[in-house]
Amino acid sequence: MIKKIAILTSGGDCPGMNVALKAVVNSAINNNIEPYVVFEGYKGLYENNFEKISKEEVKFIDRKGGTVIYSARFPQFADLDIRKKAVENLKAEGIEALVCIGGDGTYKGAARLTEMGIKTIGLPGTIDNDISSTDFTIGFNTALETITNAIDNLRDTSESHNRINVVETMGHGCGDLAINAAIITGAEVLSVPERKLTTKQMIDKLLASDSKRSKIVLVSELMYDDLNKIAEEIERATKQETKVTILGHIQRGGRANAIERLLTIRMANYAVKMLIKGKTGVAVNIVNNKFQTKPILDIVKMERPSKQKILSEYDEIV
Ligand code: ATP
Repeated sequence: MIKKIAILTSGGDCPGMNVALKAVVNSAINNNIEPYVVFEGYKGLYENNFEKISKEEVKFIDRKGGTVIYSARFPQFADLDIRKKAVENLKAEGIEALVCIGGDGTYKGAARLTEMGIKTIGLPGTIDNDISSTDFTIGFNTALETITNAIDNLRDTSESHNRINVVETMGHGCGDLAINAAIITGAEVLSVPERKLTTKQMIDKLLASDSKRSKIVLVSELMYDDLNKIAEEIERATKQETKVTILGHIQRGGRANAIERLLTIRMANYAVKMLIKGKTGVAVNIVNNKFQTKPILDIVKMERPSKQKILSEYDEIV
């Protein structure tokens, strides 16, 4: 029986990390397990920066964006000696298990710790929805809402001024944020890694569009060298003023929405139950509305699912 577990958040922060933290703490205590928090992800494990936490201390954190136990990029964790120190620190405190909330890099760190005798379970925390084993990651839903609100606002002013807006979302190589936001907001043009458009293709679509005034060109990050240059070409070809808006880190912030909170609480509770059952080296997924676990080493090798179906739906709807 596990007596003490620690929780960390790592990689890019996302709405819902605090919700997950609170839910793991509550579930652990309800199962007579003492929870600890680790500050700044794997860096805190190495620096022995962790402490015991109570239900009272997490009572209100689910209303906050970001992560109250902080996150860090700590590439040094790939070094075996650094990980050995982290494992020593955990063992000295009698902590046998770790809940790791983050993206696929965080999962790789967890898999390495499993090999060194620490029980681990991953929770998918990233706005990008780029973990192939799960239909939804924690943070995706809220980030999508933030993007939707931003595009709606841009649409208001662009309609008034007869403008085209080139809008860039996050995604880290995964088009889910952009594709879903394009469907919701009716973006006239969509370009994602799964179906990348040339500037000429964008212009052709804009010229053929039924929209009379405002038009949105929605693109995922890391796809084009210079969006301003693309906007200039669009403006020249369409004779319509064209502006670029990079949504950037605004997408990462904010309080998790209600659906996100519900999904996250249930996922986190499931994670604690799976640890108690003896699962380790796995991460929690939601697939067809059901929770399940899958080995982390399999997850990080998985290919991205095809986006053909949802892209066809976008084509039919917009
Ligand atoms: P996001 O998708 O938001 O970027 P992420 O979890 O993928 O989140 P990364 O920075 O890739 O973010 O990884 C988080 C941390 O996990 C790293 O800073 C590092 O401490 C640890 N990590 C990543 N890859 C490995 C690895 N191969 N071995 C050990 N630790 C790793």
